[in-house]
Formats: sequence, C-alpha cells, structure tokens
Amino acid sequence: MLQTQKCIETPHGTLETPVFFPVFHLNTRGSGSCPKYWNEIPELKTMLVNAHGIQKSERFHRILKNGFQEQFHFPGIVFADSGGLQNRLNNLKLDPVEILRVQEGIGADIAATLDMPVLANDNISATTHAENVKATVQNAITALKYREREDMLLYAVIHGNDLKVMTNMIDYLKRKGNFDGYAVGGLIFKRSNYRQLIDLIINLRKRAGEKPLHVFGLGGPLVISLLTYLGVDSFDSSSFLSAGSQRVYFTPDHGSRQFREMPQTPYLPCICPVCSKNTFEQIRSQRRLIGMHNLWMIAHELRKLKVHILDQDLEDYLDNRFANRPQIKIAYKYAKAKTGGFV
Ligand SMILES: [Zn+2]
Repeated sequence: MLQTQKCIETPHGTLETPVFFPVFHLNTRGSGSCPKYWNEIPELKTMLVNAHGIQKSERFHRILKNGFQEQFHFPGIVFADSGGLQNRLNNLKLDPVEILRVQEGIGADIAATLDMPVLANDNISATTHAENVKATVQNAITALKYREREDMLLYAVIHGNDLKVMTNMIDYLKRKGNFDGYAVGGLIFKRSNYRQLIDLIINLRKRAGEKPLHVFGLGGPLVISLLTYLGVDSFDSSSFLSAGSQRVYFTPDHGSRQFREMPQTPYLPCICPVCSKNTFEQIRSQRRLIGMHNLWMIAHELRKLKVHILDQDLEDYLDNRFANRPQIKIAYKYAKAKTGGFV
C-alpha cells in the first residue's frame, strides 16, 4: 500500500486526502452544469473548474471582480484546470501565462499548468507526441516562473503515452522547480489496460515523493478505491452526472448498474438523502437525482477509505470491496503484487 493520509493547506481551507473534485462546467452564459451539491453534501466542499471555459463565458469579468467562490456562493476549495484539452482539440494556441492569470484572478486554490495533451492514438515516435510533451513541460516551467500568487498551489501536469516519457517528465520537472504537486492527465484512455495504468501510477507516486498526486478524469467509486491504494491523493470527474444521463446508478456495494438491470422494487438499496426522499421511479426519471445520489456514493466511499487508512486496514477493506468485481479484483491483485503487499 502506498497511501498515506495528507492534509493539504489551501487559501480556502484544508484538504484531507483522499479527496474528490466534482467537475463544474460553465456554459457560455456563465451558468454551472451541475446541481449545487456543496449545499447538500458536507463532505464535498471541493470543485474542479476549467480556466479557459471561465475565460470565454459571459460572466468572466464579474467572476474576476468578485472571485469564483463569491460569484457562485461556493464556500469551498477550487481546483482550476487549464483548458489544455480544448487547446489541443481546437488548436487555440492558449498562452500559459494568460491561463495562469485567469486561475490566479478567479481566486483558485489549486491550479494545473497548461498542458498540451497527448491523445490515445498519438504515436509516441511521432514528432507531434514529442512536441506536445515538450510544450507541456515548458508551459509548467513558465507558469512557475511567472506565478504571482504564492498562496495558490501550482500542480505541474504530466502527460504522455508512455511510462518512460512520463517518468522522465516528472524527474525533469522536479529538477527544474519546486511545484506544489503533480497532476496526471490522459488516463481515461489507459483504463482498459490496467497493468499499464498501475505501473505508471506506482512510478509517478514514488517520484512525486511527499508532494500531492492528482489524477484527472477518473472518478467512479471503485477506481477511486484502487487508485487510493496506489497512493493517489485526489481525483476529479463529471461521471457522476454523465452516468445520471445514461441512467447509471452507483450502488452502495456492487459498482455501477443500469437502471433497467435493477430489480423493480419500490425503493432503492441506499439511504442517502436522495434515495430516502424519492421513489425508485422518481430517481430513475431524473438525471439530477441520479447525479446527486452518485455523488453521495463517492462521498461515502471517500469516508470509508479515510477510516480504513487511519485504522491501517485498507487492504482488508479492499479485499472485501472488490471480492465480487472480477475485473477490478484482478487489477487489485496485480497492484498488491507490484507494491509488495500480500497477494
Ligand atoms: Zn442514494
């Protein structure tokens, strides 16, 4: 097991790891994409936003003037991602210092440096791959050099399609500057190859030392548990909402299930506030309710992980947690073998 519980100090409070950041997208009118979960789930006073998305919204100047927390009545910790994916997909030519100023200006607590993401089908021997990796590294060093707010934590983004490239990246960035943490991108595409994902995370965890390690875009309860075991400190995802649109329900004990596969009982097998107050049919028919229930399940999972880390019996908990989930059980067995745990 590589996990230790950390307390990360930020301008708007202390994060106790493992921690989850629900993704909050702004549309061009400047309204948020998801329900105000922070008023209902005390455990989740965290949010991940996209700096480029905020910059192009109609409310950008108001958000800059008031600060993000004030503008959205959000009394929590904001992690501002850069907008690197949009930069790459739409060839926007974003400037790393301009994005940094947006992150600083809106009052972010944590900012990720502007990455030039590598995509799943990018060949690692192609010039584009090398150029994107180089741009991601250079942007991180530039952001560190030009940062104006010392209280905002700056995480260097690690991206690539190859373990060696990514470990070289973190080694180089460690030599070049004192980043507050590291954030790994592009892993959605690597999820199907669990050995590759596990090897990569173990290597990055060791190299990051005491610094926080964030993983972008992986956020179901089971994958959070596995990555927590491997020492990842924080996560973000919008899958709780997209799962809601696809009528996928995070069950308390057995992973995700489609509503159509679930027994048609009058109520659901959960006593979170959503499932306590609404019927099966009401929840099934409302994306927002499924999304809120799914978030409760993530909050519950994080609480259980924290307790078992502190109680030093995380392995026993995960042995039971994954017992009836064949796919993740195999991945967990591999993770235990690689980290020297008992198999
Ligand atoms: Zn529920």
